[in-house]
Amino acid sequence: MIRSVSVLGSTGSIGRQSLAAAKRLGIRVTALAAQRNIALLEEQIRAFRPAYAAVYDPQAAAALRVAVADLPVEIGQGLEGLRRAAAGEGEAVVTAVSGSVGLRPTMDAIAAKKRICLANKETLVCAGAIVMAAAREQGAQIVPVDSEHSAIFQCLEGRREQLRKILLTGSGGPFRGWTRAETAGVTPEQAVRHPNWNMGAKISVDSATMMNKGLEFIEAMHLFGVAPGDIQVVIHPQSVIHSMVELVDGTVLAQLAVPDMGLPIQYAMTWPDRGPSPYQRLDFWQMGDMTFQQPDLEKVPCLALAMDCARRGGLAPAVMSAANEAAVALFLAGKIGYNDIYDRVAATVERIPNRADPALDDILAADEEARRLAGGR
Ligand code: NDP
Ligand code: MG
Repeated sequence: MIRSVSVLGSTGSIGRQSLAAAKRLGIRVTALAAQRNIALLEEQIRAFRPAYAAVYDPQAAAALRVAVADLPVEIGQGLEGLRRAAAGEGEAVVTAVSGSVGLRPTMDAIAAKKRICLANKETLVCAGAIVMAAAREQGAQIVPVDSEHSAIFQCLEGRREQLRKILLTGSGGPFRGWTRAETAGVTPEQAVRHPNWNMGAKISVDSATMMNKGLEFIEAMHLFGVAPGDIQVVIHPQSVIHSMVELVDGTVLAQLAVPDMGLPIQYAMTWPDRGPSPYQRLDFWQMGDMTFQQPDLEKVPCLALAMDCARRGGLAPAVMSAANEAAVALFLAGKIGYNDIYDRVAATVERIPNRADPALDDILAADEEARRLAGGR
């Protein structure tokens, strides 16, 4: 179990739950970081007393400096601030910012040999090969927070060599079974309302389009060192099984729990140990049926596109993920329709030439270009 942690994206859904877990487990919080929600960040600073906090937006950072002038806390800003929050004091980092802005800070935390409690899946999608190689080289442990990957991680502990196939489960989101014509009028309010999970806006939209499952597909390839053909997506609307692994002899192991992100967050912090938790227990008498379906890739083109980009490799996943961030932001702002998300991402993937084994700078350049193309009028 870790004794100290910094939380990147502390004002978000995963960030807030991480701080609650740290408090309950008696883990000291060394640094916090957010983008611009300084009202909540100030509350968190007063409650957890970190020595350092970072605000991406410089104006908000300046206002926060004034607001907490009575405390011994240094306030950084911009990407530099976020990177310092990742690499400074503390045994572990929860990467819970949304989007590929988490890439550099995650690399810094790896260079500092910290445990990465990884929620920020976009980082692995855009640069998984580089991130995993760096972690191996530095001996930095990456413990997944994403519920599916936490499940796979737990099922594989001590038996990685026996793995034959990963069964990545997903609820199918709020529009499961809807045709393209039916999803055309979906509003941001409808898209962010997920039946089983309460999450940030971007990942909620990704869950609706199933781009989230596509990002998780690529995340799993990197985390567990498997090929696209070794992962099967299974629709499981109840979200009780959080994912499964099939072993060489045909045995299938699954991890089950009530859908509450607090649990994988706690596990990433206590690993390799476990501790008691306050979360609701599974009640098999109340649970009802567990059902499973094959995804209909024609109805969830974002998942099909992500699986295709996983096979293409190189820059394709980074381009796809950055284009998706830009398109989802436009959708949430009411500027484009729901189906335009896929159209913009697919068009951007086709427009940016791919290349094998990209370096970090190539990835960052492609990320920027993809945002420009997908976010344009
Ligand atoms: P939220 O939108 O709720 O929170 C995002 C957090 O990141 C906020 O604290 C936000 O700050 C901060 N942030 C965003 N951009 C920057 C930036 N440029 N610099 C510093 N901080 C920034 O997202 P979630 O908590 O839902 O998701 C976070 C990550 O975890 C995502 O990668 C997501 O895919 C992953 N994840 C989330 C799950 C969930 O249940 N929510 C489940 C599995 C994975 P501010 O508040 O100031 O804007
Ligand atoms: Mg997940």
